[in-house]
Amino acid sequence: MQHITVLGTGVLGSQIAFQTAFHGFDVVAYDIDDTALDAARARFAKLAETYRSLGIDGGAEGGADAALERISYSHVLAEAVADADLVIEAVPEAPAIKQAVYEELGRVAPARTIFATNSSTLLPSTLAPFTGRPEQFLALHFANEIWAHNTAEIMGTPDTDPAVYRAVVEFASQIGMVPIEIKKEKAGYLLNSLLVPFLQAAAELLVDGIAEPEAIDQTWRIGTGAPAGPFQIYDIVGLTTAYNISMMGDEKQRAFAALLKERYIDQGKLGVATGEGFYTYPAKD
Ligand code: NAD
Repeated sequence: MQHITVLGTGVLGSQIAFQTAFHGFDVVAYDIDDTALDAARARFAKLAETYRSLGIDGGAEGGADAALERISYSHVLAEAVADADLVIEAVPEAPAIKQAVYEELGRVAPARTIFATNSSTLLPSTLAPFTGRPEQFLALHFANEIWAHNTAEIMGTPDTDPAVYRAVVEFASQIGMVPIEIKKEKAGYLLNSLLVPFLQAAAELLVDGIAEPEAIDQTWRIGTGAPAGPFQIYDIVGLTTAYNISMMGDEKQRAFAALLKERYIDQGKLGVATGEGFYTYPAKD
């Protein structure tokens, strides 16, 4: 694989495109119009700055400036994928948008092109029928702040060709990811399958009045050696996201959502992003 197209250049798409270009691949960044592509340029410039300031080594591939040179831009799908070996889709998490994108993509992409979705919540088998090539389709799931949290969870459907799966595992390591091979479809992949129940257990301890967040976090840190406890993780995830997810849960989780809203969200305390949540943080730019 040498030519990679990324569909959607928002939070994750821009990171995937930049990381891929940084590791020497030619990347086409595709988004809906020129305004979105201008926003993409700004995101790439910011990512280049981040990589430089962290001293991330570009090795033989030449670093952040060379990465920017390897990215081209298009808002015409057929053009964007004309030469693609692999298309990574990171359009909004809305089934209707994804369906429309795959239906068009299946029509215009070369027969050899592999498609991968970065969807966090949709199982790839729900999207596979729209691709027109289920054997060349799978999930390749990245985490936010890809340069630091460099896992790539790779999850096929029962129809994914094992050779395609292997090729994507290989690609993931070539762009500096730790490939995480998932053998069967699982909502939440590995990380959220572990994290969500853990965070919910912490929420339950709080709403039941068993202990305060500081005590719960301290226990987890000291007892396991982990760097952060569950309420520190809630602050990183963001309390609005935590609220939205908890509202969909059982009675205890909804009680936690109410607590989040009343004590934090209504006061503008949304976690690390706003400088205050369960804890206070230095300002972030
Ligand atoms: P985002 O809203 O930041 O970006 C979406 C981008 O897609 C925007 O640039 C938008 O202009 C573009 N877009 C909209 N319609 C389009 C279309 N029809 N064709 C092409 N592009 C289109 O979203 P995001 O947070 O980057 O999420 C994208 C995907 O990545 C989702 O599937 C999400 O589940 C997944 N994901 C997100 C995160 C995260 O932390 N944000 C982490 C892992 C996976």
